[in-house]
Order: sequence, then C-alpha cells, then structure tokens
Amino acid sequence: MGEIDLHLHTTASDGRLTPQDLVKLAAELGLRVIAITDHDTTDGVRPAQAAAARFANLRLIPGVEMSVDIAEAEVHLLGYWVDLDNREFQQLLAWSRDGRVNRAHRILEKLAELGLPVEWERVRELAGDGAVGRPHIAQAMVEKGYVADIREAFDLYLGRGRPAYVERERLTPEQGIRSILAVGGLPVLAHPADIAGLEELLPGWVAAGLVGMEVYYAGYTPDIVGRLQGLADQHGLIATGGTDYHGFGTPDEALPGSVDVPREVVDQLIKRRFRLAS
Ligand SMILES: [Zn+2]
Ligand SMILES: [Zn+2]
Repeated sequence: MGEIDLHLHTTASDGRLTPQDLVKLAAELGLRVIAITDHDTTDGVRPAQAAAARFANLRLIPGVEMSVDIAEAEVHLLGYWVDLDNREFQQLLAWSRDGRVNRAHRILEKLAELGLPVEWERVRELAGDGAVGRPHIAQAMVEKGYVADIREAFDLYLGRGRPAYVERERLTPEQGIRSILAVGGLPVLAHPADIAGLEELLPGWVAAGLVGMEVYYAGYTPDIVGRLQGLADQHGLIATGGTDYHGFGTPDEALPGSVDVPREVVDQLIKRRFRLAS
C-alpha cells in the first residue's frame, strides 16, 4: 500500500464520494499525500482542504483534471496547485465543462466584450432543436440591430479572422498547459499510455511547459510503466501517478493509494513548483 495518490475524484465531478468522505477514506487508508483532481472543476478542493485539516499526517495538493483535444481524441491534463481564485481560469473551466455549446458561448463573450451583448436564451430559441451555431448568433445580432443582415454579422464579427471568431471548441494541449502554468499550476499529462502518437506529441507539450507525466497508474503493467518511465526520463518529466479513484465501488476498482507512487515524486513536484514561481 502506497502513501501517495495524486489523482482522485469527488462528487464535484463524476466521483461518488464527497470531498469530505474521500479525505476521510484516504486518512483511514494511511495516505500521507493526496491530490484532488476533478474534471474541469476545483469545487471539491476547498471542502477537501477543510476536511484534511483535521488529519495531521495528511497533506492535500489542490488540483484539477482538464480536458483538452488532439485530433480525434481527448487528452487529460492534471494541474497541481492551480490558483483556485483566478477568475479567468475558473471561466475557462466553466467553458470546458459545457463542451457542446462552448463555442457559441465564447463567441457571445467576445461580442459582449465588443459592446454587442446577445442573450444566450435567444440564440438557443433561434436554433430550435438543432445545435447552436454562428448563423443563430448572427440572426440574434440582426434582431438587436447591431448589423443589417446575417452576412454583415459574419463579415464584421463572426467570420474567420474577425473579432468575435472562435477557432475551436476545446483547448489544445498546449493551451491547457499554458493556462495551468498561468495560474501557478504544474501541468502533468494524465494516463498517457493510450494516447496514439504519444512519442511524436510529447516534444511539443514539453516545449509548452509540461512538467510531468503519469507513469504509475491503476492497471498499468510493468511493461507500460517501463515504457512511460523511459519517455519521462527522455523529456525531463517528473514521473507522477495515482489511482484515478472515482468511488464507483466496483470490485476491480483500485482504492486510493493502491498504486505505488515513489515518495520523492512529491518532493520533485514541490521543488519544481518553487522553481517556476521564482
Ligand atoms: Zn482522465
Ligand atoms: Zn481522472
């Protein structure tokens, strides 16, 4: 049984245990260092911190697990010690949570910044049962009297290269890495074993500021761990790990701490954190 688990979920995202119950379980299991890493939210961190304060031997690292996109696939980035109070970062997470409509929302945000507010509800009405798209936003802009017609809305604001244009619906890994760094966090690649083309993709992510990669993870065989360890060494990445515990309660679920993570990993992360901050 290990004493470190740097990848845990709570009811703040899709975990089944409240932050309080998760912390209690971790303490009962004898863990010394845990990180709360919910999907695209940090809402579980503060309640977990309050609960962890009651256990003298338990250290809690605030974290998040961000979803980002590569071609045809989703990649997860862990961010340790992100600033929970940064408004822009929280807005980014909120946007990320709402994947289906995020592009339209971002366009509306840009329009608002340009002094052209458009109500989301009206855009949704105009879209009816279909997916919200730029034509509906353009139509709402016409109704507001901002533009003469839909074509003008595209020409002046919504078209590619125009001030309210939004390129993609999700962050790229590079954008995710930079956004974590921008709020004082350490970006770490989550469960990388299944990422197609990992070897080719890693150099770009390292250049963007990736500092670590999960090497120890529930279900990873010694072969997989060896391969990932080699890649981490090659790129100077800290080899981190955790169980990705969700509290599903299934018989094969790895309990917190059941993946062995070397103690020095936490020291390496702390050192890197202070090096980045100075
Ligand atoms: Zn994940
Ligand atoms: Zn996870």
